[in-house]
Amino acid sequence: MQQAEIAKLLAGADDPGLFSAAAALTRENFGDEVYLRGVVEFSNHCRNNCRYCGLRVANTAVHRYRLSVEDVIACAGLARELSIGTIVIQSGDDFHYTRHDIARIVVEAKARADVAVTLSLGDRADDELLFWREHGADRYLLKVETFDEALYAQSRPGLTLADRLARLETLRRAGYEVGSGVITDLPGMTPEILANDLVRLAELDLDMIAVGPFVPHPATPYGDAPAGSILAAFRAMAVLRLLSPLANIPSTSALNALRDGAREQGLTLGANVVMPSLTPETVSPDYAIYPGKNAFRADARSRVEAAREAIRRVGRMPSTAVGGSKRRRHV
Ligand code: SAM
Ligand code: SF4
Repeated sequence: MQQAEIAKLLAGADDPGLFSAAAALTRENFGDEVYLRGVVEFSNHCRNNCRYCGLRVANTAVHRYRLSVEDVIACAGLARELSIGTIVIQSGDDFHYTRHDIARIVVEAKARADVAVTLSLGDRADDELLFWREHGADRYLLKVETFDEALYAQSRPGLTLADRLARLETLRRAGYEVGSGVITDLPGMTPEILANDLVRLAELDLDMIAVGPFVPHPATPYGDAPAGSILAAFRAMAVLRLLSPLANIPSTSALNALRDGAREQGLTLGANVVMPSLTPETVSPDYAIYPGKNAFRADARSRVEAAREAIRRVGRMPSTAVGGSKRRRHV
């Protein structure tokens, strides 16, 4: 699909057709199954200053926390107990945890709970990424946020798109299943930028692609910017399904932060993954990358059950499978 055609679909030229084609392709490749990933948000410390994110270092209002390595490993045990096949270990860019800390989490989570481990730790050094892969980490999620160089630099001060893309290449060479994605309606994003972002995401031939709408956080420079459109995010997800039929595409929690129920709707137009938080409820409200994130105050068990109910409500089946990349098995 050419960029001009994508731009038309993003503008709503064929909504019912786009959504039903994406849903049919998802069903063809994944059946009714929806994979669950348990997200362990183990630290909200971050050294970066992304203009969109509530965890940015300049936000002194946020109460910062760090879970111990043992606590993170215990969350992996909980994932196993709840029949979740993958855990996503996520944090701000927090270099307090050494390469050995993260390696211990990977090794022990896999040994004790037999789960696939996705890391989402931000911009760590290449040799650390290789080290964790050697210790058994399966996947890495690193969203590029946008492929527009100027918008990237504006949104992530001091960081460069070239560096982010080079890191994605390192991850692929190291043998990770690689996930990336963009934020739709990021302040400064034009329809042309988004259309190009989707083309570039598809060209990366990713194992996982996450698109979520921008959600304004009042304690950031973008606090007064308008929230992203849910419909625009849905169109982007559906286009990505057409471009990348075998990719794992989550229906993100950012959708639900904007409208309760939007996450389950995303499962009807191309998404095949849901990522409930396994973060202990004592700290989960502080992982406030945007308002509404982890607003559902409940223990991890109830959050997972709520995600399973939401999946069933739209006629799909919560899967207990590890849900590895189908793209790899077919290349
Ligand atoms: N620090 C790591 C990084 O940035 O890659 C991982 C954690 S970061 C909180 C995870 C994702 O949150 C980012 O990739 C970004 O897309 C998303 N995010 C942060 N602030 C957001 C906002 N206000 N609206 C939508 N998504 C946001
Ligand atoms: Fe830090 Fe990630 Fe938030 Fe940027 S998006 S401030 S790197 S947690």
